[in-house]
Parts: sequence; structure tokens; C-alpha cells
Amino acid sequence: MQVNAKAGLDNSEIIENIRTRKRQLGKELIILTHHYQRNEIVDLGDFAGDSFELSKKAAADSDCRYIVFCGVHFMAESAAILAQPHQVVQLPDVSAGCWMAAMANATTVQAAWDGITGTCGADRIVPVVYMNSDAELKAFCGRHGGIVCTSSNAPKATRWAFENGEKVLFFPDQHLGRNTGHDLGLAPEDMIVWSPLKPLGGNDPAAVRRAKMILWDGHCQVHTHFTPGMIRKRRAEFPEAKIVVHPECTHEVVSLADACGSTSFMVKYVREAPAGSTIVIGTEINLVHRLALEFPDKNVTDLDHSLCSHMYKINPENLLWTLDNIGRVNVVTVAGQTKAEARLALDRMLAL
Ligand code: SF4
Repeated sequence: MQVNAKAGLDNSEIIENIRTRKRQLGKELIILTHHYQRNEIVDLGDFAGDSFELSKKAAADSDCRYIVFCGVHFMAESAAILAQPHQVVQLPDVSAGCWMAAMANATTVQAAWDGITGTCGADRIVPVVYMNSDAELKAFCGRHGGIVCTSSNAPKATRWAFENGEKVLFFPDQHLGRNTGHDLGLAPEDMIVWSPLKPLGGNDPAAVRRAKMILWDGHCQVHTHFTPGMIRKRRAEFPEAKIVVHPECTHEVVSLADACGSTSFMVKYVREAPAGSTIVIGTEINLVHRLALEFPDKNVTDLDHSLCSHMYKINPENLLWTLDNIGRVNVVTVAGQTKAEARLALDRMLAL
């Protein structure tokens, strides 16, 4: 439920009101903005970055009582898992979800786990869950000796999993899983896809026993939008360009790019590129636009236009409404046992 407490204000008045609320709340408030937020939201935030990096920053600040996360639901949940007891996390629009995160849930993952362990035995498999998932799935990993990973540390976390078992169940992003398996030297035939709606994920028992990595059949619509054809088109247009893509892209796209990495990696890549260079970026369009504005001495352009409509749900109007109702509306919490178990899986990642 969301109500604009100040209906009738124009955009500049809304922004002025947000600035006033920020001044009034001072150090008690931190506004976190994910890299994929629109520029006017990033301009109003205190920090911009990757989701986990942002959550850690807010949780480390004891003066902060209110964390307003301009991002999507799983990010606010991660902030709530890490938050200190006196901190409240709010999401300006609670319907801001994630297509990928919605592709796996506690029931489907438990069913997969039962199918795989029934085929191979429970002591051989370690679950690795991507940050882009519900807290319940992070808790599942905590319970089952698994770990959380981000797009930056997926190879490290997956290597850790192989040190603790013979087989990895990687969810919910098939493509990050496959790109990671490839980075670790696995062959395509070492990895199978688990389709949650099919018996035994659509595999025969021998394939499940043989596989080293079992990849959940999930994906990000923003990053699977990019195709090899788009890379070829940009190469023809800008032969001198470096093409950088996100590891949620398909392996075909990643293998044609010059570099692949998380959003923070992309920001660093552009910052460190020589003046005058051309960089084509395959990620959410708001980050590409911002990088182009921030680095006018470089030619930064998109691989194609791909927008996350969930991220785009956060706007100045619902941000102001949240600040006007600070600590009270759209509060995101993670309940006791889920929080403890999810924290366990996150702590394993932090200990890497
Ligand atoms: S960009 Fe993809 S992974 Fe990120 S929130 Fe949007 S749908 Fe989810």
C-alpha cells in the first residue's frame, strides 16, 4: 500500500522536500541507491553501488536508524539481515521485485534438493545461492552447509563449495553459474540445467550423478536480452571499442566480449580506461547512461537498451512518501530463524 502524502507537488518540489527531509533526519538516515536506479534517485542518495556493498555500508554505521533502500526487495532483505537491532530498513515500493529471484522459492529448491540428494547422497552436494534471491533461499544454504555469492565473488564462493563437496547446486541464475563454472575450468558437459517444473529437473539419474554443477533454470531478463548479434553489430560500428558485459549474460555473449564483471567492475573499468576510448556496456541502461555522463572524456555506449522495470519502480514520489513516513511504511524484515540461517550463509561468504 502506498499513498503520496503530498499529492499535487511537481517533481522539483518533491525533490526539494526530499532534501529537506534528509536534512531533518541527518545522520539517522541513509539512502542507499543501487547502480541501476535512475539518475535523479542516485543524486538523492548517500551511496550508490552493488547491493551487498551498500547493505554492509549502512549496517556498519551505528548513527543510522533508518535505511531506505532504493533498489529491489531482495536487496532490502539483505540489508535487513545485516542491519543492527536499532536499524529499520524500508523499500519505497514493496512491489519492486526481481524476475530472477522469483524463479526459485523455498518449495521448488527443497524439491530439487530432495531429488538430487536422493540420487547422489546428501554429503556430496553444496548449495551456492546468488545474492539475487529471497532470504529463505539464503537460509536454505545456511542450513545445508552452503554459501551466498555475489557476481563479483561467484568463482571464489564456488571454489569454496567444491572444497567442501563434490557437486554444486547453483541457483537461481543459470548464466552466472555457467560462466562461473567455465572460469573454474569446467567443461560444458560437467554442467546440467535443473528445470524446477520437470521430474528430476528434466534430467536422467545418470546425468545428475555425473554433473559437477547443477544450474537452476533461472535468468535475468535484463541481461539475457543481450545477444551475440548485438555484439557483432557494435563491433562493426565501433571496431576500436572494448565490450564489457555482466556475468548474468549468456555464455555465448560473455565469450564474445572483451571483459565481464559485476556492476562495480564495470564502473572501475570505465574509470580506468584511457581518455578517448570507446567502451560498449552490456548491462542495465541507467548505469550505462550514468557512466556516459560521469566520463564525458570517453565514449561510453550501450550494447542495447535494456531496462529493469522493477528497479524503475522507485521514483522521487515514493521516496518522499517513505521519508515522510520514516520507520513506519514498507518496512522490510527477515524473521528470526530465517535471518540467523541466512546470516550463516552470508558469513561464510564474508569469511572467504
Ligand atoms: S536487473 Fe535482473 S537481476 Fe537485477 S533486479 Fe532486475 S531482474 Fe533482477
